Amino acid sequence: MSDARVIVIGSGIAGLVSATQLAHQGYAVTLIEAADSPGGKIRTVVVDGAPIDSGPTVFTMRWIFDQIFDSIGTQLESEVKIDALEVIARHAWGDGARLDLYSEYERSLDAVAQFAGLEEAQNFKRFCEKIRNLYDVLQQPFIQSASPTMLKMVTGLGLNGLTQLASIGAMSNLWNSLGRYFKNPRLLQLFARYSTYCGSSPWQAPATLMMIAQVEMDGVWSVLGGMHALARAFERLALARGVNFRYNTRVEKILTKDGRVLGVQLSGGEVLTADAVIFNGDHAALSEGLLSPHDNQSNQYKTPERSLSALTWSINAKTSGFDLSRHNIFFQNHYQQEFDDIFKHQRLPQTPTVYVCAQDRGTSVPVEGTEKLLCLVNAPAIGDTHQLTQEAIESCEKKSFALLSQCGLEIDRTSRNTVRTTPVDFHRLFPATGGALYGQATHGWIVPLTRQKANSHIKGLMLAGGSVHPGPGVPMAAMSGQLAAAAVKAHLSSTKKFHPVATYGGMSMR
Ligand SMILES: Cc1cc2nc3c(=O)[nH]c(=O)nc-3n(C[C@H](O)[C@H](O)[C@H](O)COP(=O)(O)OP(=O)(O)OC[C@H]3O[C@@H](n4cnc5c(N)ncnc54)[C@H](O)[C@@H]3O)c2cc1C
Repeated sequence: MSDARVIVIGSGIAGLVSATQLAHQGYAVTLIEAADSPGGKIRTVVVDGAPIDSGPTVFTMRWIFDQIFDSIGTQLESEVKIDALEVIARHAWGDGARLDLYSEYERSLDAVAQFAGLEEAQNFKRFCEKIRNLYDVLQQPFIQSASPTMLKMVTGLGLNGLTQLASIGAMSNLWNSLGRYFKNPRLLQLFARYSTYCGSSPWQAPATLMMIAQVEMDGVWSVLGGMHALARAFERLALARGVNFRYNTRVEKILTKDGRVLGVQLSGGEVLTADAVIFNGDHAALSEGLLSPHDNQSNQYKTPERSLSALTWSINAKTSGFDLSRHNIFFQNHYQQEFDDIFKHQRLPQTPTVYVCAQDRGTSVPVEGTEKLLCLVNAPAIGDTHQLTQEAIESCEKKSFALLSQCGLEIDRTSRNTVRTTPVDFHRLFPATGGALYGQATHGWIVPLTRQKANSHIKGLMLAGGSVHPGPGVPMAAMSGQLAAAAVKAHLSSTKKFHPVATYGGMSMR
């Protein structure tokens, strides 16, 4: 039996942040990861010799990473090379309509005016003012708060904040609230899509998710070497601070006694003791017996409604017929049907919207020959229910690439240059999820407030990642990693278990 002070289960972005921050503060940290490399959903698939970013591709909210890197004595730009994109995203429809949104507001305003007329441009202006205010008022009391509650929100928001919330119709769904701003159905469709960043349907997500549009308008960056470079940067920083990484190792049980965490048991039977454990897997796994079966409180975690999964194709091929930007979204005309298929009928969409990340674009270097692509359509999280047939997958694939062709984009795909990932594969990679990629669906205005917080009901067991507060997405999960590290620190200080075992670079430890 070996001894480890803090054990972090999972090297998703949240686990990496927690481990690095705690090690920086002098804690002895062991990070246990089932996969053979760090990053979790931030993963690379090698296709025909080319590493393709096959998880998150849109890097936003850099202020969160600025804060995190600062807290460990370094800077984001010293650790990864990032470039701000001029075009945030290119949107296309089958009849040839196109709309680019830009990091520069005035350019987006002109583009909207050309696309939908001056009145809609005025509406876009009104919308932008609203989401700016909304984002500003919600950032402190919600995103940065360790444990937002209705009462704290009401107090923290103040009169101005509450007025802002009321003005968007905070209790109604995103689709209806967007209808207060846009008449053009394609603008509605475009801005409604932001709910899918939280794995949710615009018809069920709360109006507050409209602020995700502001997150993108504040800036989208590309990361040199792909998003995986971010995970590798944290791995490097964590190693330098003494974190002990154990890859290809699965935790089978979190050991508890009398409501306190004792350590973990690995799949080979080895037991590691710990004063605190951070669990970075999907917290749905806790309700499926990852906690000790003798802990009769483990079933207190009810499995909530799952968020979206995805069907993805990582491709290394030549393209033609469409001027790809880095981020491209190809829309169809029956938008609601897509979400009805997924959430009501639990089947792959008959009319999928297709996202294409062209990873070699958005730089000054022109693309020649083959290029790296991630194509993604939303899918139901049914990777563990045996509902997905090969026939359904092939049919969805055919419709997805037919939509791209209709918009002019041809991809020279072969079985050799394409790797497909289904909800079944995502379920295998991320246990207990059915392939859901964003934790619980953000359906209903109360969900953001009731999401599980960093402290669990077991003393010394903390939770981190996209399935807990403040929610999914790389920056939000990173923020939850910070919150879990702070919760561990508070717990160990209260139990007087903290004796720094190392210092890093002479930094103060407390
Ligand atoms: C295809 C795709 C596209 C996305 N697009 C974007 C995007 O553009 N922008 C954005 O911000 N977000 C995006 N997301 C969401 C984002 O990737 C996630 O919200 C975020 O990365 C989740 O991080 P996490 O900390 O929750 O950990 P995860 O990435 O979920 O990693 C958890 C880790 O824990 C490990 N683990 C779990 N259980 C055990 C165990 N018992 N023992 C050992 N190890 C275990 C797993 O192997 C895994 O490595 C996307 C996700 C996917 C999959």
